[in-house]
Formats: sequence, structure tokens, C-alpha cells
Amino acid sequence: MVYDVIIVGAGIVGMASALKIKQQSPELKVLVLEKEGDVAQHQTGHNSGVIHSGLYYKPGSHKALNCIDGYNQLIKFCDEEGVKYDLCGKVVVATDQKELDNLNTLYERGVANGLKDLKRLSASEIKEYEPYCNGIAGLYVPQTGIIDYTEVTQKYKEVFEERFGGEVKFRNKVEDIRLGSIGVEVMTNRDVYRSHLVVNCAGLYSDRVAQLALKQLDVRIIPFRGEYYEIKPNKHYLVKNLIYPVPDPAFPFLGVHFTRMINGGVEAGPNAVLAYRREGYKKTDVNVSELFESLTWKGFLKVASKYWPTGLGEVYRSYSKGAFTKALQRLLPDLKESDLKPGGSGVRAQACDKNGGLIDDFLFVEEDRMINVLNAPSPAATSSLAIGDTIASKVLKKLNK
Ligand SMILES: Cc1cc2nc3c(=O)[nH]c(=O)nc-3n(C[C@H](O)[C@H](O)[C@H](O)COP(=O)(O)OP(=O)(O)OC[C@H]3O[C@@H](n4cnc5c(N)ncnc54)[C@H](O)[C@@H]3O)c2cc1C
Repeated sequence: MVYDVIIVGAGIVGMASALKIKQQSPELKVLVLEKEGDVAQHQTGHNSGVIHSGLYYKPGSHKALNCIDGYNQLIKFCDEEGVKYDLCGKVVVATDQKELDNLNTLYERGVANGLKDLKRLSASEIKEYEPYCNGIAGLYVPQTGIIDYTEVTQKYKEVFEERFGGEVKFRNKVEDIRLGSIGVEVMTNRDVYRSHLVVNCAGLYSDRVAQLALKQLDVRIIPFRGEYYEIKPNKHYLVKNLIYPVPDPAFPFLGVHFTRMINGGVEAGPNAVLAYRREGYKKTDVNVSELFESLTWKGFLKVASKYWPTGLGEVYRSYSKGAFTKALQRLLPDLKESDLKPGGSGVRAQACDKNGGLIDDFLFVEEDRMINVLNAPSPAATSSLAIGDTIASKVLKKLNK
């Protein structure tokens, strides 16, 4: 059988794209190939579970446009398909005078991105939302919510297969791709599949999968692990919903935050340290060739020279619970080291160009018969259906539909 489209990766981006292609052109034969035994086994299943509102992103960027569109589509999908979520709102809190300019920029971005009822908070108003939170000024973002993205991805798969007749094959690791003039051959550890087009949504391995077919690629995925602590149940009262710091604009991550989880519990994290293995969730996980590849990518060397003070601080906090707690106490002074127990972790696929730029926006690289999603960092889970629309329209254009 020759498929119209093969998608590599059953994370939330791959499954949303598969669903959108079928919704827009139900007659197309679409196959998703995934190396694991289920959907959402990597970034999608190891994230903070936050539905982002579009506060942070540069107005007009892919991230801003897709986040707001994706947010609206996600809420509609969950309402229709019975996936639970809670739009509980969040506070972003400045604890230092030096953060006030950046807090102001966030407010302006939020307004420019169309966020309604975004509210500036004084120190005392912060306490109306989060009574135990310390800050000199803040923002309240009513649209932000919490959700389980594994459940969302499972629902995308269910609708894709059961309502639209799409196919997902697990335990199929894509090992080679041959782009020809009349079609594509995709070789996995199990079989050879043929199609007219291939879409690479392989997350942490998206650069590797792209390189199976493309001669030259000027970006690499650098894996950054994010570690979480869980707050012990007797201290859950310290966090009502979501408490975020003001992010450092020079760094592509949002900073360690407190998140009430949709399935219960409160997490604190994630930090951001270089992972020694792309799918390495523990400090001891090392893959020598992957680490060597990260360390010798010329873009990474430039990143390291630019961000080393921040990076060293993150590594120190990764190994010292006391230092991690101290960072959290800036937001929640009553929190004690003994209130925290180790939680899970996730690894972010952060694309880095050869000039040392950590790519901030979503990045698509196309060939005649291949579409590569080479940077889909946060808020790509929130934005998944909007990214799916973008990919579906690229696919339909290539297939002349
Ligand atoms: C710590 C952390 C916190 C985050 N918090 C949030 C948040 O609160 N809100 C939000 O919106 N976003 C958040 N994100 C971002 C979000 O989780 C990701 O942007 C999103 O999950 C990316 O989805 P994906 O499908 O591109 O990647 P993935 O979920 O990683 O999926 C890629 C898939 O490709 C498969 N694959 C790889 N190579 C191959 C191969 N050769 N053959 C077959 N299959 C292959 C993998 O097994 C995997 O299943 C967070 C991310 C992290 C890591």
C-alpha cells in the first residue's frame, strides 16, 4: 500500500497533524510511525501540563499566533470530546525591582496578543490570588489553565483512528528515509513503508530524522532536562493554582514555577540543565555519542559561552536541593526543603543554529516531499491543533489538494 502521508512521531504535534490532515481531507491515507509502544512517551508526557494563554510571545510570531489559535481550538476540542481541564488562572510575580521592566514588557505583549482581563497586581493584590506568595508586583492571567497532555494526545489518536480511519503503528523506529522523484520510502526496524510525503515530528530526534534525508542541516537539537519536585500533601495549601516568576528574556525557558496538576498534586519546576542523553530523564543517563554531538556542535559552544553563568546556577540547583528550595522561596518564603520530594522530569528539544542562537520560534524546514518540524518547544502542546493546521495546509499544498 502507498500512503499519501507518513508522519514520524506520535507526540502531541504528530498526532494533532495527523488528525488535522484527515479532518481536512478524509480521503487521504495517513500513517503515523512511532518508535515507542504508546503516544506521548517523551516531551508530551513529561511536561508541566499548563494551557498557556499567549502572554510571553512576541506579537506576530508563530508562537504568539499559534498559541492563541491553538488555545481556543484545544478548549473547544476538550469540551466536545470530554477531556477535563481547568482554566484556573495564574499569577506572574516579580520579586526584585530589576524584574519590573520585564514584567511590564509581558503586560504589553499580553495586551498586544489580545489577552482580555489581564490585570496588573500590587504586592497586596498578589495575596488575593496566592496568599502565601511573596512579590513586589505581578500580573494575573485569567485564561491560563491546567490539563493532562497525554490524555489529550490519546484522544487525538482515538478520533484519528476511529472516526477518520487513520493508522498508527507503534514500535516502528524510523531508521532511514529515501526521498525519490515519485515518492518516499520510510524504513523502520520492522518494515518498509511507501508514501507521497513524509512529515517529521520526531521531537528530540527531529534533527536526526531530518538528516536521514537532507544533505545539509544547519540546526541541531540540544536536549535540556527539566527536573521537578513535588510539594508534600500537607503543604499543598501554599499554592492555590499557578505561580510563575518573571522569565529572563535572554533565556528560552520560563523559570521554575509552581503548578497545581489536573490529576492532583502540586509540582515545582522545571529547571533547565543540559541532558547527557536526548531521552535521559535521570542525572545518571548518559549517551556518549549524543553528548559528544551536543558539545561539539559549533552553535552549542557559542551558547555555552553566552549562558554559562545561568547554566552553572542551574546545574548547582540540580544537584543541591537546598539551592533549588532557596530559588523557590523567593516566590513562597514559607516553603521548606523538607516540604519537597523528588518529582519527575522532562527533556526539552531545543533547536540551536550554527551561530549559537537558541531558536525561539517554531521552525519548519521543507523539501519537495518532506516537512520537518525542527523546533516545537513550549507552548507547542497548547498550540498543537494550530500547528496541526499549519502542517495540514503545507501537506495539502504539496499534494495539490
Ligand atoms: C519539561 C517540559 C515542560 C513543558 N511544559 C509545557 C506546558 O506546560 N505547556 C505547553 O504547552 N508545553 C509545554 N512543554 C512543551 C511541550 O511538551 C512540547 O512542545 C510538545 O510536547 C512537543 O511535542 P512533539 O510531538 O513535538 O514531541 P514529543 O512529544 O517528544 O514527540 C516526538 C515523538 O517522536 C518519536 N520519535 C522520535 N524519533 C523517532 C523515530 N526515529 N521513529 C519513530 N518515532 C520517533 C518519539 O518517540 C516521540 O514519541 C514542556 C516541555 C517540557 C520538556
